[in-house]
Amino acid sequence: MTSVSRLSAIETSINREIRKIERPKDSLGNALPISEYFGQYAFGLDQMKSKLSTEGFEQLMNLVKKGKSLPKETANEIASIVKDWALSHGATHFCHYFQPMTGLTAEKHDALISTKISEQGQTQVIDRLTGEAFLQQEPDASSFPSGGMRSTFEARGYTAWDPMSPVFIIENTNGKTICVPSAFISYSGYALDMKTPLLRSIQSVNEAATSFLKLVGDVDVKSVDVSLGLEQEYFLIDRAFFSMRPDLVMTGRSLLGRASTRGQQFEDHYFGSIPSRVLSFMQELEQEAYRLGLPLKTRHNEVAPSQFEVAPIFENANVSTDHNTLLMDMLRKVAQRHKLVCLLHEKPFSGVNGSGKHCNWSLQTDRGDNLLEPGKTPHQNLRFLAVLSVILKAVHEHAALLRAGIASPGNDHRLGANEAPPAIMSIFLGDTLSKICDRLEKGEVLEDSPAETVISLGVAHLPAVSKDNTDRNRTSPFAFTGNKFEFRAVGSSSNVAVPIMFLNAAVSASFRDFSAQLKELLDSGKARDEALLSLIQKSMKEAKAIRFEGNNYSEEWIAEAKKRGLPHLKNTPEALQVLGDEKRVSFLHELKILNPQELTARHHVALERYNKQIEMEAATLLEMVETSIIPPAEAELSRRSALAESLKAWGAKEPSFEGAKERKEVLSKLYSELLTQLASLKKDLDSASRMEDEEKRSLRLADKVIPSMEALRSVADDLEAQVSDELWPLPKYREMLFLN
Ligand code: ADP
Ligand code: MG
Repeated sequence: MTSVSRLSAIETSINREIRKIERPKDSLGNALPISEYFGQYAFGLDQMKSKLSTEGFEQLMNLVKKGKSLPKETANEIASIVKDWALSHGATHFCHYFQPMTGLTAEKHDALISTKISEQGQTQVIDRLTGEAFLQQEPDASSFPSGGMRSTFEARGYTAWDPMSPVFIIENTNGKTICVPSAFISYSGYALDMKTPLLRSIQSVNEAATSFLKLVGDVDVKSVDVSLGLEQEYFLIDRAFFSMRPDLVMTGRSLLGRASTRGQQFEDHYFGSIPSRVLSFMQELEQEAYRLGLPLKTRHNEVAPSQFEVAPIFENANVSTDHNTLLMDMLRKVAQRHKLVCLLHEKPFSGVNGSGKHCNWSLQTDRGDNLLEPGKTPHQNLRFLAVLSVILKAVHEHAALLRAGIASPGNDHRLGANEAPPAIMSIFLGDTLSKICDRLEKGEVLEDSPAETVISLGVAHLPAVSKDNTDRNRTSPFAFTGNKFEFRAVGSSSNVAVPIMFLNAAVSASFRDFSAQLKELLDSGKARDEALLSLIQKSMKEAKAIRFEGNNYSEEWIAEAKKRGLPHLKNTPEALQVLGDEKRVSFLHELKILNPQELTARHHVALERYNKQIEMEAATLLEMVETSIIPPAEAELSRRSALAESLKAWGAKEPSFEGAKERKEVLSKLYSELLTQLASLKKDLDSASRMEDEEKRSLRLADKVIPSMEALRSVADDLEAQVSDELWPLPKYREMLFLN
């Protein structure tokens, strides 16, 4: 028998009605195609161009392209256009939507009104949005983490409109608000957010890649942009179960819970038929996302039970990052309407796969060429190989920093857990490219080009499929997949602005280095192609250690990586130390992506967040054990003891008496083990929490407290298998994961 409270949650969850939504329709009642309502609730440069005066738009583009400030009248004109658009949709408020260093999004709403005083002295209201208010807001920023950059007495920070990212409307039950994607900067000009350094890094790659292309002869390329496509994984569970689990509510992951007998061993969930209730959720999510201009493309079941994925078509890295933060917000909100909870945590359930966010990254020129696309002409191929070696070098030289960029308490459970890439950075290129690189390195001439080959399927009515030049290797943290790199080690809840900023920075530095060497060779009179080829060879050799085609999950790889001198930073505190290592981060200062104060601030914030998170998890676990594990264990123990006593008193013979005694002893042993582990976690947590130095504290938490938590959990999970189902208060894995 199941406990009363769990039974009621199970009943609630299986009796949920599927939520039905209005689909957008034409006047005849026919469903509209997506293209008809896509971007209805977004206002970007395209719309601006059609509404703004020619001169105004030119000035706006001067701001976008050259950073020139906007004349006041133009700012007012823009604000007034946005206001009219907002009012036409029934919005009443606007907010600057920004990404403080918490990694979440923040917003402060203001009504779209101003007041004026009538001649009679009465207050009147007019609908208004001034240019000044539109461009810049001044939220009292003192409660956002600043990592020591801004003391509380200097609480001023301001948010500034990012014209490259479309303004959008958020609708909820009782009204609409327009959101203005913004950067968040301190009064003295320091970046207090995630977006500003990302934008700087995109600019830095743009400059470096463009001048490189000019050197190799592509003189008409004016700019290079970073493209990003983000595959988002997540779990969905019913709210009834969620609300009964303090660990999920407080920390986003289950700190306790015995793996169910069925996990993902049947491999039946991945790409399986999507449960109806979940599909309805996805459809509502997509409809809202389309209105906001998010080009969602793919939806499917993921590997673990109750795990799913959503992926948009790639966009430029700035917009794509904004859209992903918005998508994470929407996933949570739309799930609630379906009485579901969306868990974005990297490892909500142990024993089944965790969630990642694959970042598909490439570089596109303003002429529409993808620099990671093997080309059709010898020149394009040479250029492709050069860009490839630039990236190999970037990842090789800055592997530790890239590792630091994906460090989070959640991702620690995933990296290296035989389901996700390990905490060692390496690059997978696939068979064809690998062979080409090997030969280049040895100085052998290339006869065959890496151009796409076509495999005919041998069936007349099926189209020929163009063959990806790469194999699939799901174990690699950074894999080449045909015309882009896929950075797979990024965690599902992460704001990708951080890892992508580090990646861009590394690539920018590498381009600069490459260009400088190339320039030297050209100046010394070497022919261009020959110079380029020799540099490719050189850097392929230098970065050889970063290339790994084998199984990244294997023990041998860990040993091999060590031999190659690749950094293996096992957990967040170890990885974060990189941010304090001048040798490894000074290039960020030089490239003007993060100045020393900004970087130190990020380092502090990350450490502090790690410590707070682990301490909260440990405290939650202690409380749950005290209040939800010990009581049923004690009830079960007294039951078994009483039975053993009675049987003894009745003079019962074997096997019943012996059996009852043994059952009592098994439980009694687990019970005392639980008390021992509980005391030891308390002690470890206490001693870590008393450490003043945040870095030492983080290392202590990782080395002592987390293993103690695991030890305590393991006993509690054994108890779950012993204690009567009727007494167990916490929803079990099988209930949370298999009932949708
Ligand atoms: P895969 O199956 O290889 O993971 P998909 O084609 O499903 O790839 O694409 C995954 C993500 O990669 C999508 O968001 C897609 O838009 C994105 N993507 C495709 N091409 C590029 C590119 N050149 N640059 C960046 N992202 C890309
Ligand atoms: Mg993929």
